[in-house]
Amino acid sequence: MRALPRRQQAVLLALLVLAVAALLREGLALPDPAPLAALLLLCAFDVELGRRAEGGQLVGQRPHKGLSAWPFAAALLCGPALAGAVVVPVYAYARWRGLRVPLWKWVGSGAISVLAGSAAGAAADLHRTPAGALDVAGAAGAAVLVGAVLASLAVSAAGFAASAWTGEARDEAWLRAVLRSREYYATEAAVLCQGAVLAVLWSAGPALLLLAAPSYAVLQRALLHAPLQARAERDAKTGLLNAGTWTAQAERHVAGAAQGAVLLLDLDHFKAVNDRFGHLAGDAALRAVADAVTAAVRPDDLVGRFGGEELVVLLPAVSEPVARVVAERVRAAVADARVAGEPDLRLTASVGVRWSAGGVEHDLAALLADADTALYAAKRAGRDRVVGAPAGAVPAPRQPGVRV
Ligand code: GH3
Ligand code: MG
Ligand code: MG
Repeated sequence: MRALPRRQQAVLLALLVLAVAALLREGLALPDPAPLAALLLLCAFDVELGRRAEGGQLVGQRPHKGLSAWPFAAALLCGPALAGAVVVPVYAYARWRGLRVPLWKWVGSGAISVLAGSAAGAAADLHRTPAGALDVAGAAGAAVLVGAVLASLAVSAAGFAASAWTGEARDEAWLRAVLRSREYYATEAAVLCQGAVLAVLWSAGPALLLLAAPSYAVLQRALLHAPLQARAERDAKTGLLNAGTWTAQAERHVAGAAQGAVLLLDLDHFKAVNDRFGHLAGDAALRAVADAVTAAVRPDDLVGRFGGEELVVLLPAVSEPVARVVAERVRAAVADARVAGEPDLRLTASVGVRWSAGGVEHDLAALLADADTALYAAKRAGRDRVVGAPAGAVPAPRQPGVRV
């Protein structure tokens, strides 16, 4: 938490205070123990289902998304206090069961979940039976459920956005991209609608929940698809695209692009860095370099890890002068990169650049081979520099006579 920017710490604190205030507003009366115990058991089962599907690990960067279905159902059934009484022990249980997410994320996600549950509970409170139960009858009942889904969705998106736009870590950049995607709202709405279905079935008779079990299990699996795919595409150490994914994506860009450039980057004397500071510091240095290079290029440029301490960047649709400027910016970013806890660790990189005007010259393997030759020229010339391969150095065109 101390490593977070102050603005983000302030946002997390504000979320926590608001969540506690929302719970206190409901009064400290303990919720009815029977539905609470039943919901907690179902949530624990849910956590175990998630663990099983994820191979005992947490996939993705936030607590399991599917967990928000139950607090939402709880808030609809009995108001926000029950949502809080469900969220806190369930998050603690999931953490105890080994879902490894930094504590501040659990606290932040928990607070957002309570606040979203509060908003849903407030919507449901607009139309309850005289006994205070969820009233799903008629158009008003349906409107309340839809309103609760929208209110919960808006509050949780706002909470995550506040955290993502004040944070600086790589995860926060990931979260910002996620919050801009339609996919996020579609899957979040699916989870909340599932929560609404659970609440309706529960209020008609808890045994009816069995009817929702198969679709619930399928939804849980579907939610894992995107994070599992993202994990398969990325190098675990640096979070950059792995070599296979980078090549496949770069091939697609190169096939369609008019012009562009490939940068090949190799850290200088990295073996000596490992020897002096140890391999763990070397790994941390690789992550710092990956972050620095990613920050130095545009979001649409492709940054990958090719081998040990070799990175590769595709810059689609750049002119030759721009490619040189970006390559120099990347080199400078590596020289400026710092590793936490190792103030004396300094890095430099040699960079080979191959710019292409497009057309028949555009063959990824040939561009990479030229960038590699330029990289070796940079090493021979003294390292910590950018060397450009001459454009047009690619041997025979694949389609003679055709230039685009
Ligand atoms: P040069 O300037 O010629 O590139 O010198 P160098 O020492 O960097 O030489 P080279 O590129 O051949 O060596 C790569 C070294 O990078 C060897 C290995 O110890 C280290 N390395 C490769 N992958 C990793 C990794 O994942 N973690 C760590 N800590 N070190 C790695
Ligand atoms: Mg090296
Ligand atoms: Mg190397």
